[in-house]
Amino acid sequence: MSEVLNPFAIAQAQFDKAAVILQLDQDMAAFLRQPMREYHFTIPVRMDDGSTRVFRGYRVQYSDARGPAKGGIRFHPEETVDTIRALAAWMTWKTAVVDIPLGGGKGGVICNPKELSQTELERLSRGYMRAIARYVGLTKDVPAPDVYTDPQIMAWMMDEYEVLVGHHEAGVITGKPLALGGSAGRDQATARGGIYTVREAGKVLGLDLQGATAAIQGYGNAGTFAHNLAQSVLGLKVVAVSDSRGGIVNWEGLDPAAVQAHKRQTGSVLGFPEAEEISNSELLELDVLVLFPAALENVITGQNAGQLKARIVAELANGPTTPQADNVLYENGVYVIPDFLCNAGGVTVSYFEMVQNAYQFYWDEGMVNERLDRKMTAAFHAVHQMAQRMQVNNRVAAYLVAVDRVAQAVKLRGWI
Ligand code: NAD
Repeated sequence: MSEVLNPFAIAQAQFDKAAVILQLDQDMAAFLRQPMREYHFTIPVRMDDGSTRVFRGYRVQYSDARGPAKGGIRFHPEETVDTIRALAAWMTWKTAVVDIPLGGGKGGVICNPKELSQTELERLSRGYMRAIARYVGLTKDVPAPDVYTDPQIMAWMMDEYEVLVGHHEAGVITGKPLALGGSAGRDQATARGGIYTVREAGKVLGLDLQGATAAIQGYGNAGTFAHNLAQSVLGLKVVAVSDSRGGIVNWEGLDPAAVQAHKRQTGSVLGFPEAEEISNSELLELDVLVLFPAALENVITGQNAGQLKARIVAELANGPTTPQADNVLYENGVYVIPDFLCNAGGVTVSYFEMVQNAYQFYWDEGMVNERLDRKMTAAFHAVHQMAQRMQVNNRVAAYLVAVDRVAQAVKLRGWI
């Protein structure tokens, strides 16, 4: 039987499993398995040649029961509303599992930003914000960067919003450049948060991470910082990394600064001297202690899960493991740190950015990292203990912790 790969179908199946274990009543389950609110709209953009193109945009506010919705905006040619719904659901569970007072949302535009000039991209970004301005704000819904959107795009969107509302409100959006109210430590927060969860996993499993081996799939924001921090914070020896063109391995360890310099010069990790080339699928099956999927969804499937040799899989990417693969990994005793726990460092520091914007008072990087560590460590242990108590895998346990928190908020509000 072929595996279901529609992300929203996967998100709902994962939720349904948790709802049964939590014995949620039917009305609560029906309420929480779908988004509370969705906006679908068109964005007319004047192109550089004088013509006008109409783009399709979305903003999904999956839940604001625990606080303002929170989640990124993606600019992607193959964007679908189901992908956005799934990601908005995962944001809801992610903010709940790290226990920050926010809900979950996500947005997107169907477009190919690589085909747009900078001025067209700016007009599209401002157009997107004009379409959603009345529905977002520090106390309603706070977007952030995601696939193919960056701090510059956040700066344009923030500016457009402030022009429309007539006052400063930097906290309407996070992931801004530092000079416009961004937070110290935001660039490496996703990887750093994941590294703290691996450190805690090492403790509960009784594994010594110092000098142990690791492999990283994906060498973008999450993957490169994971390489630096796996070495500097945990003492792990990263022996293999990859990007979309393929991977490299050296069992003596890969120096992060040297690999990153090579990637900057050549555009890929391939061709790095003193390493052998391997494919992305071979990388996943290497005999390492820790595997970090940090690229795409659905890379660990029912097909290859049985071949994985890692003891810990730390999911920096969203959705890298299919439900079928989850069952195989659990049976084989692989300790999976599920995505919405492992990569929650990004949204946690985005929340810190909102707090700093609201107070107009900024923290140094040491303070950000220390507070991030406390949040991630507490979240890790809440999930680990739930998994032990309920005898379920960590992904189900993370759902149990998160869904229970959101359901409590819904109940206390008297919605259900
Ligand atoms: P990015 O665009 O910076 O990097 C993605 C990397 O994946 C690139 O190196 C690319 O070459 C590589 N890649 C693409 N296709 C590949 C393939 N087929 N095989 C191997 N590698 C491939 O993206 P990012 O921000 O690092 O995000 C990576 C993952 O982490 C995504 O799933 C994202 O949703 C998740 N994530 C990122 C953040 C964040 O703050 N950056 C937060 C939460 C989750």
